[in-house]
Amino acid sequence: MSFTLNDLPLRDDLRGRSPYGAPQLDVPVVLNTNENPHPPSARLAKALAEAVADTALGLNRYPDRDAVRLREGLAAYLGHGLTADQVWAANGSNEVLQQILQAFGGPGRSAMGFEPSYSMHPIISRGTGTAWVSVPRGADFRVDVDAALAAIAEHQPSVVFLTSPNNPTGTALDLADTERVLAAAPGVVVVDEAYAEFRREGTPSALSLLSDHPRLVVSRTMSKAFALAGARVGYLAAHPAVVEALQLVRLPYHLSAVTQTVALTALDHADELLAAVADLRAERDSLVSWLRGHGFSVAESDANFVLFGEFEDRSRVWQDMLDQQVLIRETGPPGWLRVSVGTPQEMAAFRRALLSATGR
Ligand SMILES: *Cc1c(COP(=O)(O)O)cnc(C)c1O
Repeated sequence: MSFTLNDLPLRDDLRGRSPYGAPQLDVPVVLNTNENPHPPSARLAKALAEAVADTALGLNRYPDRDAVRLREGLAAYLGHGLTADQVWAANGSNEVLQQILQAFGGPGRSAMGFEPSYSMHPIISRGTGTAWVSVPRGADFRVDVDAALAAIAEHQPSVVFLTSPNNPTGTALDLADTERVLAAAPGVVVVDEAYAEFRREGTPSALSLLSDHPRLVVSRTMSKAFALAGARVGYLAAHPAVVEALQLVRLPYHLSAVTQTVALTALDHADELLAAVADLRAERDSLVSWLRGHGFSVAESDANFVLFGEFEDRSRVWQDMLDQQVLIRETGPPGWLRVSVGTPQEMAAFRRALLSATGR
């Protein structure tokens, strides 16, 4: 007799759920999790190794619980006159989001998002016992703000997630729309800006709204533009009172001394790490044109990925491309697929595989 998950005293609200699961497959062209395709340079890797070696000599001590130097560095990077008391950091923005839900969500409360969007928002909400309210986006993948305001009035969510640029559609949000949501929402409004550095010229960041909105949280990450997904560093900017609230729920010493050192060293090399962002944006724009030129529908993208379609059987196209050693993501609305922007060589492989898979 085999013992399974169902035999455990698992919480009822977790039964039958699936874990987050982007496939981690060993293929030459990996374009499925919106990573930055450029690894750190040898020079940066050496600087990181030296900084970690230095930190190793003090590993008998707990790290700075409040990661003050890192938060100072992140505040300086963000600009907008932000200071360390308005910034908070954790192991990936996913942990930042979890802390937000631990502090502001929980049993008897709800969180709301506008889907399709980042699949972790509902998963982290449910994990913290927060009910999830899903509101559909419009046909153009934009947040239908009138529908949003009606849903907010009905459900009174404690946390509202806006993702801009949105994953998996790439769609950015107007500041005016963000402000309407802020005015209507009774609780905290989180603008997940994981892809902010990739947005097109003229697309705003919600950072500029912070000074007028104490219940606004802007979350960012070093996983994408900073090419540091493996280091697990995410952060947010908000009113200092929000940062105080998060300190009530964070685990003591949650951000290891090694992580803090790595993140600080990476910040010192921000110019180098962010240098590839301009190339990736240009590669994204040419990918969008190429896809449209070949008759595909393509969502407007302010991110380092593109959602395209529409396919009668997207699973077949996905598998055919994987058989050609190109891994993309089967996500988003039915009939659509998402591809991350890689190097020019990777994108050439993507284009060849897609044409072959679709017979175009
Ligand atoms: C990739 C991504 C993140 C990043 O998560 P980390 O935990 O910082 O790696 C956050 N939000 C969205 C919408 C993402 O797509």
